[in-house]
Order: sequence, then C-alpha cells, then structure tokens
Amino acid sequence: MSLAEIKHWVFDMDGTLTVAVHDFAAIRVALGIPPEDDILTHLAALPADIAASKHAWLLEHERELALGSTAAEGAVALVRELAARGYRLGILTRNARELAHVTLAAIGLADCFAAEDVLGREDAPPKPAPGGLLKLAAAWGVAPSEMVMVGDYRFDLDCGRAAGTRTVLVNLPQNPWPELADWHAEDCGALRRMIQASQ
Ligand SMILES: [Mg+2]
Repeated sequence: MSLAEIKHWVFDMDGTLTVAVHDFAAIRVALGIPPEDDILTHLAALPADIAASKHAWLLEHERELALGSTAAEGAVALVRELAARGYRLGILTRNARELAHVTLAAIGLADCFAAEDVLGREDAPPKPAPGGLLKLAAAWGVAPSEMVMVGDYRFDLDCGRAAGTRTVLVNLPQNPWPELADWHAEDCGALRRMIQASQ
C-alpha cells in the first residue's frame, strides 16, 4: 500500500503538528517525579487525591502551552490537503482532550477533525498502548492495516506497531527507529511531497 492509498490518518499532536515546547524534565521536577519515570504512568500509581492535584497542575501548565502553540513546518498544508481529499483524520495524544482542541484551534486546524476523533488521555490508555488507535479503527469501521499513525516519538511508532497500523516518523532529521517506522519524513511538508509523489 502506498502512502497515497491510505485514507485514514491519525496524528500525534505535540511535536508532530506543533512545534515541541514541553519541557518534560522541568515537569518531572515540578511534580516530584523521578527523571527515569514516565509522567502519566507515575501519576496513575499515586493515591487518588495526590494524583488529582498533580493532574490539575499539569493541566494548567499544559493549557498555557496549548494557547501559545505554533504549527510545525508543513503541518497545516498537509492536514488541509488530507481533509480536502475527504480522508478520515484523528488525533491521539497523551495531552488532555480539552487541550488538544485548544491546540488545534490555535494552529488553525480545528475544522479538519471531527470532535469525536480527537482522543486525549481521558479517552484511551496512553501511548504506546494501542487502545486509542483500536478505538478509532472501530469507530471508522476499518482494519488498522488501512490506517497510519504519524508521530515524532517512538511511543507513536510503538503504538502503531502494537495496533497494526502503518507508521510515519516526522520532525527528526534522522530516523533512530528504522524498525518501527514504515516511512520517515523530515517534516510534514516533506511528508506531503512524499504522498503526492506516491500517486
Ligand atoms: Mg509528540
């Protein structure tokens, strides 16, 4: 299957459609999370009241970042082209669903995604778990093999592999995970040209 034949696209948000701004090391320090721990996994293991207050801090911190989001190179043109073709487009993010909508509005892409196809951390187990992609596959009535997951980090690629979708790595000049990525594009502009060239 060539890139141009894929009509069901799921995007990571932060660092994929936007310029990455999260300072995860600073977030871990602020929340008292050991450097080697995954943030969401760490919070999930805490007593409920402590987890709730730390989640609240995280939400407010990330809200500020979401409001100031800027689009990654080529992301707006790519998503607009796929939407104009009538393809199904989804978001799967470890960020909060509400902030995914804030971010999409900030970069001018809110109209390209059906609200129910924007999945945040309330909607699915965090990547690399495949649940979010499987949820979209069921909602769209397609096999995962007909979908592609686009992201900037190995969690996105692992998630795609675990769900059985195709995978694209963007926004890294080199591909550190060639075994996990079916395609690699330097940015979303390069990915758009790859799609056009594969027709
Ligand atoms: Mg990302």
